[in-house]
Amino acid sequence: MASGIELKDPSLFITKGYINGEWIEASTGEHFEVVNPSTGNVITKLPEMGAADVSAASRSADEAWESWRSVTGKARGQIIRRWAALMLENAEDLGKLITTENGKPYTEAKGEVAFAAAYLEFYAGEAERLYGDIIPSSNPRNRQFALKQPIGPVACLVPWNFPAAMVTRKAGAALAAGCTVVLKPAGETSLTSLALAALGERAGIPKGALNVVTALGRLVEVGQALCKDPILRKLSFTGSTAVGKLLMKQCSSSLKKLSMELGGNSPFIIFDDCDVKTAVDALMGAKVRNSGQTCVCANRIYVQRNIYDALADALVARFQALNTGDGFGDGVVVGPLTTSRGVKKVETHVQDALSKGARVLQGGKPIDGPGNFFQPTVLADMTADMLSHNEEIFGPVAALYPFDTEAEVIAMANKSEVGLGSYICTNDAARMWRVAEKLDTGMVGVNTGVIAAGELPFQGAKHSGFGSEGGKWGVEEFCVTKTIVLAVPDA
Ligand code: NAD
Repeated sequence: MASGIELKDPSLFITKGYINGEWIEASTGEHFEVVNPSTGNVITKLPEMGAADVSAASRSADEAWESWRSVTGKARGQIIRRWAALMLENAEDLGKLITTENGKPYTEAKGEVAFAAAYLEFYAGEAERLYGDIIPSSNPRNRQFALKQPIGPVACLVPWNFPAAMVTRKAGAALAAGCTVVLKPAGETSLTSLALAALGERAGIPKGALNVVTALGRLVEVGQALCKDPILRKLSFTGSTAVGKLLMKQCSSSLKKLSMELGGNSPFIIFDDCDVKTAVDALMGAKVRNSGQTCVCANRIYVQRNIYDALADALVARFQALNTGDGFGDGVVVGPLTTSRGVKKVETHVQDALSKGARVLQGGKPIDGPGNFFQPTVLADMTADMLSHNEEIFGPVAALYPFDTEAEVIAMANKSEVGLGSYICTNDAARMWRVAEKLDTGMVGVNTGVIAAGELPFQGAKHSGFGSEGGKWGVEEFCVTKTIVLAVPDA
C-alpha cells in the first residue's frame, strides 16, 4: 500500500528516477509533488531532476548504445515482446497508477495499457524487419546498398494525457530500431513511466538503454538540457505546438533529428446523408475519451443544417447520461481534467463562446468541490471567431457549428493553423473520398472516432508537426540511412 494506491505488486510504485539501471534521487536534492486530479491530494513526491541528471542519463544511454546497437533485431524484438507481455500481466496495477495520476476512468486506463502494449508488440516484429535496399548501379563495376541503422541515443518527451501509450509509442520504437533512450515524462504522470521502466528492466532491457528523468518545477532547465545535449541525436516530443516550436529552436545548436506530434484542432464533419446514431456513437468516442484531453479529440463539430437539431438533441441525451467522477467510481466514464490549468482553459473557452452568441445545451461549468472536474458540456451555434475554433479545448466540451455545403465545410475545416486528426460521417462513398483527400490533416476517420492503433502511422500536417509514430513508420523515424558503394573490379 502506498499513498492510497493498492497495487498487487507494490514494487511498481516507484518514487525515484532511473539512470544507468539505478533507481536514484535527483542531484539537486529536490522533490516535486504528484497530485491526484480527482481529489487534489498529494500522491507522493518524486525527484526534481536538473541538467546534471540529464547529462548523467545521456552518458549512460551513450554507453549502453555501444552494445544495444549490435544486439540482433530478433533479440531486441524478444525483449520488447516480453515487455509488452509484462505490461499486460500487470495491466491492473498500471491502470491504477494511470487513473490515480492522470484521472481517466479505470476501465479506460486499462484500455490504455492494452493500447500501449500493442505498440510494443508491433515494434517487436519491426525490429526484425529493418530492411534496407539493394540499388542497381549506373556504374557496371559497383554494387550499392542502403542500410537502415539506429540514429543513436535519443530523447523522448512524453505528455500527461497518455502516460503509458506515449512512452511505448516512442521509447518502444527507439529501442526496436537499436537506439537507447532518455525518457522525460510529464511531471504530473511520471509514476506510470517509472513502473514501465521497471517492467522493461524485468523484460531484459539492459542497464542504461532506457533512462527516466523526472522533473516538474525544473521542466524548462531539463527541456533545454535535453535539447542541447550533443550526445542525444534525436528528440521526439508530444505536446503543445507552442512548446514544440520552443524545443525546435533549442535543438538547433545540436542539430537533432526531430519528431513533433503537436496540438490538434480536429474537425468532425457530420453530413446529412449519414445515420445520426452512428455519427453520435463515433462522436462520443472522439470527444469524451480521456475527458476530451486527446490531441485528436473532436474540437470543431460541423453538422449539416438539415440534421443539426436532431443531432444536437441526440448528443445532449448522451451527454446527460455521462457519469462524471473519480475514475475509480462505479460506472464513471468522465474523469477529472489532469491539471487545474486545464479547467481554467476550458472555462475560458466556454465563456468566450457564450459572450459571442453560443448557446449552452448542456453543462457549461466547472464542478464545485475537490478535483479538476468540468461538466460534460454541449455548446450550439458556434462560430469561427470563437477561441475554440482556433485552439484545442482539451476538455469534455462538444462545440457544434452548423454548415450547408460540402465546399463550405471543407474550407472551414481547413481554416486552422494545425492539422492532426479529422473525421467525416457520411454514407456517400464518393463524398467520403473527396472530403478525406481535401482535408489538410495527417489522419482522417470515416464513420469512426478511433484512428490510432499499434500498426498505423500517427502524424500531423501543418503546425501539428512532422514525423510519424506507430507501425513501421514509427521505427523508421529512429533510423538513419547509410549508403554503401562497393567496387567489384573485373576478374
Ligand atoms: P504545456 O504546453 O505547458 O505542456 C505540454 C507538454 O510539454 C507537457 O507534457 C510538458 O511536460 C511539456 N513541456 C512544457 N514545457 C516544456 C519545456 N520547456 N521543455 C520540455 N517540455 C516541456 O501545456 P499544458 O498546460 O500541459 O497543456 C496545455 C495544452 O497543450 C493543452 O490544453 C493541449 O491543448 C496541449 N497538449 C497537447 C498534448 C498532445 O497530446 N498533443 C499533450 C499535452 C498538452
